[in-house]
Amino acid sequence: MTTEPNYVAVAVATPLRRSFHYRMPAGLPGRRGARVRVPFGNRTLLGLITETDATPDIDRSRIKEILEILPEEGDLPEPILKLCLWASDYYQHPIGEVISTAQPNQLRRGESPLDPIESLTLTDRGRSVDIESLRRAPAQRRLFEILQKGSNTRSNLSLLDVSAQTIRVLIDKNWATWQSNNPSEATPFSLGEVSYGDIELTGEQSDLLQQIEARSSNVPLLLHGVTGSGKTEIYLRMIEAALKQGKQALVLVPEIGLTPQTINRFRNRFNTEISVMHSGLTDRERALSWWRANEGMTGIILGTRSAVFTPLKRPGVFIVDEEHDASYKQQDGFRYSARDLAVLRGQFEKAPVLLGSATPSLESLHNGATGKYELLRLTKRPPGVKPETYELLDTRHLEVRDGFTRALKSRIKTALTKGEQVLVFINRRGFAPVMMCNDCGWIAHCRRCDAKLTYHLNTNTLVCHHCGSLSHNIVSCQSCNSQSVVAIGVGTQRVEQTLNNLFPDYPVHRVDRDSTRRKGSLEDTLEEINKGEPAILVGTQLLAKGHHFPNVTLVAILDVDSGFYSADFRAVEKLGQMLLQVGGRAGRADKPGTVLIQTAFATNPLLTQLVNTGYADFAAELLSERAEAELPPYTFQAIIRAEATESSTAREFLSLIEKKAPKRDSVELLGPIPAIMEKRAGRFRQMLIVAAPRRALIHKAIENVISIAENLPEASKVRWSIDVDPIDLF
Ligand code: ADP
Ligand code: ZN
Ligand code: ZN
Repeated sequence: MTTEPNYVAVAVATPLRRSFHYRMPAGLPGRRGARVRVPFGNRTLLGLITETDATPDIDRSRIKEILEILPEEGDLPEPILKLCLWASDYYQHPIGEVISTAQPNQLRRGESPLDPIESLTLTDRGRSVDIESLRRAPAQRRLFEILQKGSNTRSNLSLLDVSAQTIRVLIDKNWATWQSNNPSEATPFSLGEVSYGDIELTGEQSDLLQQIEARSSNVPLLLHGVTGSGKTEIYLRMIEAALKQGKQALVLVPEIGLTPQTINRFRNRFNTEISVMHSGLTDRERALSWWRANEGMTGIILGTRSAVFTPLKRPGVFIVDEEHDASYKQQDGFRYSARDLAVLRGQFEKAPVLLGSATPSLESLHNGATGKYELLRLTKRPPGVKPETYELLDTRHLEVRDGFTRALKSRIKTALTKGEQVLVFINRRGFAPVMMCNDCGWIAHCRRCDAKLTYHLNTNTLVCHHCGSLSHNIVSCQSCNSQSVVAIGVGTQRVEQTLNNLFPDYPVHRVDRDSTRRKGSLEDTLEEINKGEPAILVGTQLLAKGHHFPNVTLVAILDVDSGFYSADFRAVEKLGQMLLQVGGRAGRADKPGTVLIQTAFATNPLLTQLVNTGYADFAAELLSERAEAELPPYTFQAIIRAEATESSTAREFLSLIEKKAPKRDSVELLGPIPAIMEKRAGRFRQMLIVAAPRRALIHKAIENVISIAENLPEASKVRWSIDVDPIDLF
């Protein structure tokens, strides 16, 4: 008896926008989501079955047979596969590459997720130690407390900034040991006791939770509450409700928000294993975390953007903190939005979704207004958490020296002499953003980008912040050879220097990407600051997320004006979000905080509205401007980007597409226009913007564009990509 062979569709990680058909060996049935090895051209590739019982689209005699089916533990679970298929279609990105993004590296290479991993565990001896005996050794005590809550892998301990030295001491005392746990022996997570500390829900919080509990629909929730209003407390209660039903919680945080402070907040509340998905994990650890989540062994999964693809056996709730944050959108390759995919997972997997922010994106607020999301608000702060007040310092009427007005200097001085702490925010690292020749006006530019070079004092170099190019020639003008080259403008390093000169009696701590290269240095600084002695903290947006500074009473924000000049229509929205996020770092303790913003736009109506009546009104105003201008979120956009080593090549490629694309009244094709920074890292970037009043129209239009682009011979001379729902024009 002969049986009809089984055909399957297989996605392989190639830039081709399609799957390929294969025959299952020996009449075996196909398994959706299984990893398979397939012949591909003259190579063997690893692929993933996306469809069983497929109907081949080519002559059956030419269909090749699958070489190997990999073990089930590495299968992509159905909900994630479904998500990938949806995302591939929506973002118009090749399915093979989408699946690669969703899989841990180890699975992508065809290896098993089940390799044992060593984790540090308390020994019996360690468990009987009285923690009070470690009173004099805070680092050991901290590690001890971490281990009391459960064992931890090397990278998790490193994320928590535990040093190798501390680990060694505990091992030498025979209190802890590396234990290799065999993953297959693990069991479903259990929830121990929940520790609330001294927190009792406020009336507003408990009303809100009741409202959530009483819902009959599963519309995604958008929680808008100022910083410090207790949003995280709402997350924790929703997570608790899920865990108590034996279900899991997936929590996404922005890229720079995954701090030990954040993680500890979850650890202190729940006595259960929390899986932290961060970029420092080894491939093996990531694969094992993935597998444990998929088997329902971890109750809480906490991670950044790509954690949205973590499979959950029993999904209980999806939470996206700081939902407006740009890091949720991948900015190259597969340009997905983790926030939007989290919303989709909630629908697919029938679990509530909660997006939270003190400054929600205009898109989400609009979704709240149209009923696509349910808008919830926390308007008050819990007792003891005072709101900060904002003041604008108008630099048009005040002299600014080295970045500071006299008024600001005296406010800083007052705060310090009262024994308080000050945070100075400037979103630009380095010493000065411009190096200029005093004789001829020449300015140092990057050779590979449309950008000025930033002077860095510590390395005495000129650095391009866009491509990383370095120049050591900082003394002579490259145009007239004059030796009179000066650094103009301020960055974090200059601010640090100025403050050191002005306030020699107080420590100044700088926090930016340069100062935090050394592992643990950020934690050291934060620890120092949180001791509460009067001090100044200078930093970039690295300071603005996930950290709280209870002793800071004054926040000074320097140089925000570029937000008002930008060609990007989202710049003011982003500026407003940043101001409130930074401002929200202050005033957490019993002392109310003040935020001083130095700006030449002190009378700008949007800015005054933001600081006087708050984000909701500011956002409403911006939304009405967007509606007027027919911009997102009232219309939808996609961008076709092209880049090449010659500006004209990229432009001509897009203009050919523009000419060939079928025209429809409601779909606009704008461009080609240069990206806001046209030249970057030696390549010229152009864009063609597709805009339409409905999503479906965009979708159709991009499909057309792709098929035109793929058939253009000129395509081989450019790098092109599609960005659906873009969030910037750079
Ligand atoms: P958000 O996430 O909105 O910034 P948090 O949840 O971090 O706000 O709350 C701000 C501070 O208030 C935290 O220190 C938190 O522990 C505390 N807090 C939150 N809810 C309560 C409450 N009901 N009673 C007392 N303190 C609370
Ligand atoms: Zn010169
Ligand atoms: Zn550059």
